[in-house]
Amino acid sequence: MSESNLKSMSDLVSLCKRRGFIFQSSEIYGGLGSCWDYAPYGIQLKNNVKESWWKAMTFREDVVGIDASIFMHPMVWKASGHVDGFSDPMVDCKSCKERYREDQIDTSKPCAKCGATDFTEPRDFNLMFNTQMGAVTDSSSTVYLRPETAQGIFVNFLNVQQTMRKKLPFGIAQIGKAFRNEITPGNFIFRTREFEQMEMQFFVKPGTQLDAMEKWKEVRWQWHIDNGLRAEKLRWEPHGPDSLAHYADAATDIEYEFPMGWGEMEGIHSRTDFDLKRHEEFSKKNLKYLDTEDGNKKYLPYVLETSVGCDRAVLALLCDAYRLENEGDKENERVVMKFHPKIAPIKVAVLPLVKKEKLDTPARKLFETIQKNYQAEYDVAGSIGKRYRRQDEIGTPLCVTFDFDTLDDNAVTVRDRDTMTQERVAIDQLDKYLRDKLGF
Ligand code: ATP
Repeated sequence: MSESNLKSMSDLVSLCKRRGFIFQSSEIYGGLGSCWDYAPYGIQLKNNVKESWWKAMTFREDVVGIDASIFMHPMVWKASGHVDGFSDPMVDCKSCKERYREDQIDTSKPCAKCGATDFTEPRDFNLMFNTQMGAVTDSSSTVYLRPETAQGIFVNFLNVQQTMRKKLPFGIAQIGKAFRNEITPGNFIFRTREFEQMEMQFFVKPGTQLDAMEKWKEVRWQWHIDNGLRAEKLRWEPHGPDSLAHYADAATDIEYEFPMGWGEMEGIHSRTDFDLKRHEEFSKKNLKYLDTEDGNKKYLPYVLETSVGCDRAVLALLCDAYRLENEGDKENERVVMKFHPKIAPIKVAVLPLVKKEKLDTPARKLFETIQKNYQAEYDVAGSIGKRYRRQDEIGTPLCVTFDFDTLDDNAVTVRDRDTMTQERVAIDQLDKYLRDKLGF
């Protein structure tokens, strides 16, 4: 059996559309640039990723979760530096008006769209979306759609610390939408203007941030591996002095090798006390931590941040799972999404061999029992071969086939997605069999 990986993003985009993972937003109106809708299997997959992250990050003593509002007081974004500094340098091709990020092209070379070599001078373009809150529209009613979830954590630092009676070091985790008016969105869900982040700010005693960083680097790398990503497709990309953000004293990214090349999936940043200091300054509130274990000293904690794009994690899992087997062999060619069972949108499909009431009624009963424990699907339409192929493309690890023999021997055939081997399993043993095979 020959197998190959995903070669181009367009193969994935069409599978996602065909099989109900991701649709273009507002498709019937011609779509809206770089906006995507998660379809039924896509949202199931995404929810599994979020659940996996939430468990890994908050099922521990030293991290708690919050869910902050998307709209925040406009001063938050002044303090964080986003109003004045969250911009990318932009250039336009004077001939065809195509817009580029200056740091992503060589302006001495021709425009990729029209071939001209006449670009405008670079201008700063602020990436924050803004809108008006309330009925009166003047500058005082301007609010921003948050460009990162982190600030919702910083401004709640003391509230959380005090109500949860937390001592340093401890972290606050959050999953939520963020918005950036990206100049050059693209590569499917890799870079969009509306996306979801899964962020955790870990507050530590100054001087211990780099130790914390080492610990969290390990946790975060392992999370991607535990979700099923292949280690050879992941790498660290440390930020050198040139690419380090002004507020950070160390930073590194986890990159994944997407079909278009290596791309950032997660950032692990040692952000010092920059954000808390700025919020103290702008809010005029004392945000210092009282260290009762160290002579009642008062200080601003340092912050170690882990920030992963949920959509980029989903994209990496989709790319990584994709396999084309037996290419060109008409009978045996198949696309199979080899998701880890924990991440797969559907864990078990129940398929009566043919559409006959004699099989349909007891098979559906069996399905209803399985569905109590697993995301399962019942499918009776079409030939059994076609139904298997469909489940392969959705990435369902196990298919349970109910045939005429089942009526006599009370056993079903369980087909494994990856090996395509089939085993006969007694129905009264099925629950244990599924648990063992799926691993939970
Ligand atoms: P990039 O260099 O790709 O623009 P960034 O360094 O600005 O990303 P961060 O601000 O560190 O990204 O955001 C943390 C994470 O959020 C990124 O690692 C990425 O997974 C995700 N992310 C950032 N911007 C986008 C976007 N426009 N679309 C989808 N995910 C994004």
